[in-house]
Amino acid sequence: MQTDFSPAQLADPATAQSEGAIRKCVHCGFCTATCPTYVLLGDELDSPRGRIYLMKEMLEAEAVPTAEVVKHIDRCLSCLACTTTCPSGVDYMHLVDHARAYIQNRYRRPWHERFVRGLLAYVLPSPSRFRMAIRLARFGRPFTGMLRSIDGLKPLAAMLDLAPKSLAPPAPLTSSPARMTRGRIVLLKGCAEPVLRPEIREAAVRLLNRSGFDVVFANGEACCGALVHHMGHEEASLAAARRNVDAWTAELNGEGLDAIVITASGCGTTIKDYGFMLRNDPAYARKAARVSALAKDISEMLAAIELPAHVDRGIKVGYQAACSLQHGQKVTEAPRRLLASVGYDVRVPRDAHLCCGSAGTYNILQPQIAGELGRLKVGNLEELRADVIATGNVGCATQIGAWTGVPVVHVVELLDWATGGPTPPAMIDRYSEGSQE
Ligand code: SF4
Ligand code: SF4
Repeated sequence: MQTDFSPAQLADPATAQSEGAIRKCVHCGFCTATCPTYVLLGDELDSPRGRIYLMKEMLEAEAVPTAEVVKHIDRCLSCLACTTTCPSGVDYMHLVDHARAYIQNRYRRPWHERFVRGLLAYVLPSPSRFRMAIRLARFGRPFTGMLRSIDGLKPLAAMLDLAPKSLAPPAPLTSSPARMTRGRIVLLKGCAEPVLRPEIREAAVRLLNRSGFDVVFANGEACCGALVHHMGHEEASLAAARRNVDAWTAELNGEGLDAIVITASGCGTTIKDYGFMLRNDPAYARKAARVSALAKDISEMLAAIELPAHVDRGIKVGYQAACSLQHGQKVTEAPRRLLASVGYDVRVPRDAHLCCGSAGTYNILQPQIAGELGRLKVGNLEELRADVIATGNVGCATQIGAWTGVPVVHVVELLDWATGGPTPPAMIDRYSEGSQE
């Protein structure tokens, strides 16, 4: 695509980066076939190519974004299916990140959008606030129907729908004593995941310890910043990145680290991008690049080693590939191969490349499109007649779990179970032999 940025505009590194991405687009339209919003809505402006055009016009003109442009950018899931399909290698991820930050800085949203986005940015990155919000949700639940009937307040209804009715107690940050031989790793504590599904981190620690790794939790680590990053809150996401880079650099420079392991693939994609996000910060650029190079999704980490002895449970698993893992990190084979290697019968649904509609806060901010994608995904997964659905991201587990009666677990819970851990809590009703450890 031809561009018309001035030299002064291109002196800004973010604009120069976006210009490079836009210029690579050759209008071929291959990406439209795999874009969930284009597949659903059939509007060119809700396709990657259409959005690239809108972003180009907005950034070139240095215009105040119009409500129409914001609508189409907001509808993008940041699922990155387009980056997997694009033959020209358009860096859509950093382009849309830039556009979102631009919109956040220059566009005044209606009050109800500001309220909901502000609430999400305040609550979700903090496990204690998130836990409190879920407890308070029961007081709002009787008003869900009323909220759903008011256009601007539908996101509040979606929030209440997605809030679990009960919560497990906070999971302690425990690991086995330092007696391992394979290496020392930091496990990301996470923010939403340990509140919604504390069993994921517990399973990860058990499995990593059993596989011979020392697991540590870094002091000073915070939310990775992915949720605010996707809402365009650039300063908040950079502050989160710097804080985590400091926390993990202290571990690296202390007893040393072999990897930074992440169980939520949405967080992993952002942490792997810290090197890019902080590339223009002289105090952090090198440290952030070092951290990003050490970041690994737990399935990547485990795929590189031999897992402990396993019990073959003969269970059918429908594998839901999280977009952040398959498109964001290009980790496609590892989770399926790991599950198959410990005896699970792994099945993949139709249209596995399409997003389930979770996408960070998307299922709250765009409940209608997210609902349609959720129903579509669950229909495809249920066709597999699997005993359980496994995924690598807590957001997908929450979204899919809202639409199906089939248990939904994290891949690591099944690997832990097969190699000596307890039955995943979501499966206890059906497979109740309890802990084997
Ligand atoms: S596939 Fe790539 S090059 Fe083709 S229209 Fe989409 S973004 Fe542009
Ligand atoms: S990130 Fe996903 S929703 Fe957004 S344009 Fe690309 S394929 Fe479409």
